[in-house]
Amino acid sequence: MNRIRFFVTGIVQGVGFRPFLHRLARELALTGFVRNTGRGVDGEAQGSGGALLAFERALCDPARLPQLAVVLSVRTEAIPPVRGEDGFAILESAQDGRQTLISPDIGTCPDCLRELFAPGDRRYRYPFINCTNCGPRFTIVRAVPYDRASTTMAGFAMCGDCAREYGDIEDRRYHAQPDCCAACGPRLWFADAAGEEIPGDAIAQAHALLARGGILAVKGLGGFHLACMADEETVLRLRARKHREEKPLAVMCRDLAAARRLCRIEQGEAELLEGPRKPIVLLKKLKRDSHPWLSDNGELGVMLPYTPVHALLLAEGVDTLVMTSANPSALPAVIGNSEALAQLTGIADGYLFHNRDIEARCDDSLLRLLDDGGAYYIRRSRGYAPQPVPVDFDCTGLLAMGAEQKASFALGKGKDAFYSQHIGDLKNAETLLHYQQQIVRYESLFGVKAERLVCDLHPDYLSSRAAKESGLPVLSVQHHHAHMAACMADNGLEGDCIGVVWDGTGLGTDGKIWGGEFLTGGYQGARRMASIRPVRLPGGDAAVERIGRIGDSLRHDAGLPIGDPLVGAMLNKGISCPPSSGMGRLFDGVYALLTGRQVVTYEGQGAVLLEALAAGAEDERGSFDVSFYDDAEGVRRFDTRPMIRALIACRDAGEDAGRLAMRFHNTLIAMAAQACAAIREETGLARVVLSGGVFFNQILLRGLYARLGEMGFEVYHHRRVSTGDEGIALGQLAVAAHRDF
Ligand code: ZN
Ligand code: ZN
Ligand code: FE
Repeated sequence: MNRIRFFVTGIVQGVGFRPFLHRLARELALTGFVRNTGRGVDGEAQGSGGALLAFERALCDPARLPQLAVVLSVRTEAIPPVRGEDGFAILESAQDGRQTLISPDIGTCPDCLRELFAPGDRRYRYPFINCTNCGPRFTIVRAVPYDRASTTMAGFAMCGDCAREYGDIEDRRYHAQPDCCAACGPRLWFADAAGEEIPGDAIAQAHALLARGGILAVKGLGGFHLACMADEETVLRLRARKHREEKPLAVMCRDLAAARRLCRIEQGEAELLEGPRKPIVLLKKLKRDSHPWLSDNGELGVMLPYTPVHALLLAEGVDTLVMTSANPSALPAVIGNSEALAQLTGIADGYLFHNRDIEARCDDSLLRLLDDGGAYYIRRSRGYAPQPVPVDFDCTGLLAMGAEQKASFALGKGKDAFYSQHIGDLKNAETLLHYQQQIVRYESLFGVKAERLVCDLHPDYLSSRAAKESGLPVLSVQHHHAHMAACMADNGLEGDCIGVVWDGTGLGTDGKIWGGEFLTGGYQGARRMASIRPVRLPGGDAAVERIGRIGDSLRHDAGLPIGDPLVGAMLNKGISCPPSSGMGRLFDGVYALLTGRQVVTYEGQGAVLLEALAAGAEDERGSFDVSFYDDAEGVRRFDTRPMIRALIACRDAGEDAGRLAMRFHNTLIAMAAQACAAIREETGLARVVLSGGVFFNQILLRGLYARLGEMGFEVYHHRRVSTGDEGIALGQLAVAAHRDF
């Protein structure tokens, strides 16, 4: 007989972990006990050496663990065996006053789906079915410890049947806090456009509305969606009502088979789609130019049903629904019933309401899988938040405020970064309020108070202002340094690296707009080694939408005539033409030059479309000449002028826009390779981190990764947080943890 003491940390509470251990112990004829603690679970186990080994192995085997459990560490130590122990017990929690982790919301599990559609089951077609392995968590929690009374299920007293399941360790609903049934739980109802409840089967009425081409507002886990059929006419109506002209819309497909009728799906993507987190996955369309009313590029965002309401909706002939968060443009998604009515009048033709409150807004996550099978986040939100991002440094009491447009924050505790869900654009007052509320909520849920804050260098970002108004010590970190540090922390790097940080815009240390940057340094600080030749933005921020002006500006800079006399006058006089070395703007301008398009309808659209254009000419290997010069301040600049002149000459000679778009991408890859080689020569640094929103671009990411690898660099990209501004908070946290302030 041997005995061990074991300690397990991670998401191991509220996910069926102790019953799992109980069953495992019985299977292996072990005695002992397990209990919840502040950091996870601990306990003791006694049995033969082989059985204990099998026990330890099972704790680390994802295939055996409960679906929702995430084990971060298992530690064991041998202790003397005891006599006369009888069986394996689940003890009451150790009250050590510390907090444990809260699970993200989890999509309806296969067991619950089976019951949902099993005619004799007592939860047959009950739209709130859930169990220990699935259901709402993060979006319904009001306080810790996590039990029903501290969730928005508090008002629903369990019926006898549910209570029995809840208390039975053999039951798959043992300690499932949101457990409920039609007799005791929330209810779903259908309301017409005026919000009047229409008696009868809510799902049947929703189906009837959808079949008529109507737009349905559906209350989900982290907010309302607008849903409609995916045909062109209906989708264009939705777009017109929502003022979302061209920005891609995601779809929810009934199952993989339905999704495969739209998109190509690799094995890893199928697993992600069907897995418990249920993000929107960006997939390649079967035909690049199919369904242009859903997305204007070769990809489509697809998710599978993740609540019982979705599962009921995506049935009976409905294979695919457009699903977009329900918000009048620029506002955050609505979460309350009356709020939905007030804000969606004129947009929605009917509503699926329910009476389980959403405590916290949480948008759908959006990601793609890279060639190596790794996740690449565009939005890390529902299904992932608030699961912490483990880091290699202590960051207790630090709060990273993030950027502004794609705001998110990260609260440090120990070596965990508790990353917020996707928050959105803080310039909207309601979003700013949501951001502030979530900071307070995170502090309370994770039992840590922010003591020192870190924000962007830009004084006008509302996240920076909020930091300064707090009265706490504040550290400001330059935007691109934070991006670089984020990618380093994402990959667990220490020391110094080369950072290739390309994005749309960020305030530089010289007060100018940066965004096509080559930096060196680490968490302590960064040095700007090179950048791109700035392009002047006629009309400033207005040029983000009026990309034709950026094209004109590039032509003007290259000494070529331009058509628009107004823009010409602005550029000649140099009035309201702030210079920007943002790589995103260069993409916008080049897209305008190649296609003649003057205006875009969402930020970054030019870059997205330029990539899609280039993707049609993947065999193009050519590139334009690359040259650098040193500017008056001693910054090494990529000279864009020869490239622009060559590009326009080729275009005027009738060359294919797709091939030229690809040649532009190839030129940037060659340029970055040359710049990195020169920096390595000067500094000896051979590790390169790639960060910034421009690296959402897969041609650039793939191309630069391969090229730098061939040159002997170690290349790193983001894996656990977004490469865009949503990932900034991780870098801010890393910098703050390594600096005194
Ligand atoms: Zn379930
Ligand atoms: Zn019940
Ligand atoms: Fe950025």
